[in-house]
Amino acid sequence: METLHLSAEKQGDIEKAAQILRQGGLVGIPTETVYGLAADALNGPAVAGIFAAKNRPMDNPLIVHISDLSQWEDLVDGVPENARALAAAYWPGPMTIILPKSEKIPDEVSAGLPTVGVRFPSHPVARAIIRESGCPLAAPSGNLSGRPSPTTAACMAEDMDGRIDAIVDGGPCRVGVESTVVTLATCPPRLLRPGGITLEQLKAVLGEVVVDPAVTQPLEEGKEAPSPGMKYKHYAPKAHVMIVKGALADYCRFVNSHNRPGTAALCFAGEEKLLEVPCVTYGSETDAAKQAHDLFEALRRLDEIGAKTVYARSPGQEGVGLAVYNRLIRAAGFEVLEV
Ligand code: AMP
Ligand code: MG
Repeated sequence: METLHLSAEKQGDIEKAAQILRQGGLVGIPTETVYGLAADALNGPAVAGIFAAKNRPMDNPLIVHISDLSQWEDLVDGVPENARALAAAYWPGPMTIILPKSEKIPDEVSAGLPTVGVRFPSHPVARAIIRESGCPLAAPSGNLSGRPSPTTAACMAEDMDGRIDAIVDGGPCRVGVESTVVTLATCPPRLLRPGGITLEQLKAVLGEVVVDPAVTQPLEEGKEAPSPGMKYKHYAPKAHVMIVKGALADYCRFVNSHNRPGTAALCFAGEEKLLEVPCVTYGSETDAAKQAHDLFEALRRLDEIGAKTVYARSPGQEGVGLAVYNRLIRAAGFEVLEV
């Protein structure tokens, strides 16, 4: 299939994308988090197409995107007070709220779970496409399963050209990592995936919020994942990635003494001059928002330069840093070296 390359700036292209979605097609759309692969969330066969295009495991549920709060009521089995307060504080924005689902949600979306995740994105192009299409859109990240999520239309085309109907270019994504996922289907609320809305921000509205252990640790053998996406190796370039924890001087000494063909460093800006291997940077040590913004493209760049072994500097875990750490530790298959 030939994938149409549309532009949010071109007259009529948003309407074209909306029409493809109404007809059950698959469209790559920009959001403030990452590019998503969208289909009409209420059309089961269309949603099944997302799983096929991504090679996504069928047990990994999708997030449903809305452009108006009134669409939410239809998708869930009631909106409790704490959910309303959370939405009032952070929607539209990079946060997904999980609640028991309504009967309208096809099994393809919820992957057999009794719950559904809903998000109201802030990106004007995402909102325009949802509004024009007239349907809520199921949209996971627009990468092939296991690969880093796309943060530009070009990154999305790398994975999806020839596999989907269209991609709408709306420029680079502002946040750069996927949405914060919080479930209110349990009491107390639980953070399943950190993102652009921080744990501290969730606590400011909800009070107690439990951080699921799978945010920073591998799932225990035989234990069921509260969020199925957590159990897969994720966000990974083709190279073997390891996080190297330690002071900058120790990191540099370690990397420089392991300088073999195919070795590369994933480090912070300004550290390249201390390293004797090819370097790709992802933001600065003290700016977690910039790290989040740059991380996925940096992981893709490592493939482009042919890296085989990647030693990554460890991000902090405060604020948005928790989201950066969560993605990087999955890209590294939980391999951490202390130096
Ligand atoms: P993606 O859209 O690629 O960012 O993936 C969506 C993420 O949200 C995955 O990690 C899913 O496991 C998680 N998710 C979506 N719906 C639910 C749900 N109903 N319960 C728990 N996790 C969910
Ligand atoms: Mg994803």
